[in-house]
Amino acid sequence: MRIGKISENEKKVRFNVEIYCTNCNKKVPGGLLTGEKYYGTESFKKELELFKKTYLCGICRDKKRTSK
Ligand SMILES: [Zn+2]
Repeated sequence: MRIGKISENEKKVRFNVEIYCTNCNKKVPGGLLTGEKYYGTESFKKELELFKKTYLCGICRDKKRTSK
């Protein structure tokens, strides 16, 4: 999964975080990808927090979509 800003031709950083679905609490393999310049910045940390707070796994996302 990609997060944050990745410019074209920019080196990408792969990192792992523990992500849990905010609906069913399932642990999701948290292999994430971001741009080298963005990685570790304050806005990166904020975005990662927000990402974790709002994350839905594929199944829950599908459910949400079909229940609309
Ligand atoms: Zn879920």
